Amino acid sequence: MFPLRPPVWIGQSSNKLNETRATQKKWILSSMKITDRMTRLGTESAFEVLAKAQKLEAAGQSVIHLEIGEPDFDTPEHIVEAGIKALRDGYTHYSPSPGIGPLRQAIADHISRTRHIAVTSDQVIVTPGVKPIMFFTMLALAQEGDEVIFPDPGYPIYESMIRFVGAKPVPVSLTEKFDFGLDVDQLRSLVTPRTKLIILNSPHNPTGSALTQDSLKEIAQIACENDLAVMSDEIYSEMLYGGKYHSIIQFPGMQERTILMDGFSKTYAMTGWRLGYGVMPAELAIHIGRLVTNSVSCTATFVQKAGIAALTGPEEPWRKMIAEFKLRREVIVDGLNAIKGIRCRRPAGAFYVFPNVTGIGLDSNVLADRLLREAGVAVLSGAAFGHQGAGYLRLSYANSIQNINEALARIDRFVSSL
Ligand code: PLP
Repeated sequence: MFPLRPPVWIGQSSNKLNETRATQKKWILSSMKITDRMTRLGTESAFEVLAKAQKLEAAGQSVIHLEIGEPDFDTPEHIVEAGIKALRDGYTHYSPSPGIGPLRQAIADHISRTRHIAVTSDQVIVTPGVKPIMFFTMLALAQEGDEVIFPDPGYPIYESMIRFVGAKPVPVSLTEKFDFGLDVDQLRSLVTPRTKLIILNSPHNPTGSALTQDSLKEIAQIACENDLAVMSDEIYSEMLYGGKYHSIIQFPGMQERTILMDGFSKTYAMTGWRLGYGVMPAELAIHIGRLVTNSVSCTATFVQKAGIAALTGPEEPWRKMIAEFKLRREVIVDGLNAIKGIRCRRPAGAFYVFPNVTGIGLDSNVLADRLLREAGVAVLSGAAFGHQGAGYLRLSYANSIQNINEALARIDRFVSSL
């Protein structure tokens, strides 16, 4: 039974009122007993560092932002227009929880075309960003006693969500030695009768690595042999700077065990619109759809209309943005490698670099903090992405070449001054 809030009577004496207020305060404190599961919830350091950086900027310090993972470009005009038109046309009401039919169909067509498989619209669930698909998949497929294998370093929300649902997080290493590819032999050795789910992310945040066709084939075999589900985070699928994109869902036996996540935040510079989706077996989609009903009801209807324009409209604006990211990758990789104590691989995709900074001689958390405070460059410590990330930094190059060059000069000056 919840304690009942003590009533406040109109017209009572001020002494009585103060007494009642004190009781109320006590009631609020004693009833706000945070659940154990909340202690298992992690966070994303990019948002914390961004807030710190903005505070320094408000106090007059110049900061170059290489911490947050979002395109510095505006959403392409035709997508914005589609959103505005949808608002004017009255797409301001609830939509079905799994998404509006035409968007689900456009996504099914897009995934069928880009992943070379046959997808139907009942396999598609639309959500406000990709993150809810992550959360809902974990809620639907993993619980206490289960194990979930996830990449280390990796996007921090994976481990946070695994812990939150009560399952055991089992990290699989991505090491610099293997170009931050996933160690498939280690993965095989980590599978137990309790393993339920493997999480993949390619191109990868934070290292920018991409899984090779051979690795994916082996991972698919492991998943099939052990009857495991795979959650494949493909949000950077369009940001691959050479070669063909391969998805685990394309391999034999994988469509019925894969939850493919992709979205609009990165490719179409739509982070603030909140639009993403999952493609999964239709039976699972029913459960994930119920989680949407129970949480956010649906994704904003006019945003979904804009999503159709993104998938079916001209590609040139966002392809130009991605071509620009490729140029910036060259600038930042070459610039970092020219700084004493830093060693940086050329990543295959996304818009992140993950340089090894052990040669500088500072702990990567300390280095990231000092770079922000003393050099005015906001970056993330690799340790925020898992144990294997210690000794690295993550820099997002979703910033202008001019700013990247200035950041490199500041980092160089800082390192030389040590
Ligand atoms: N997955 C990865 C690997 C990401 O890096 C991000 C955002 O940084 C997301 C998912 C979240 O994307 P969304 O904005 O669609 O929720």
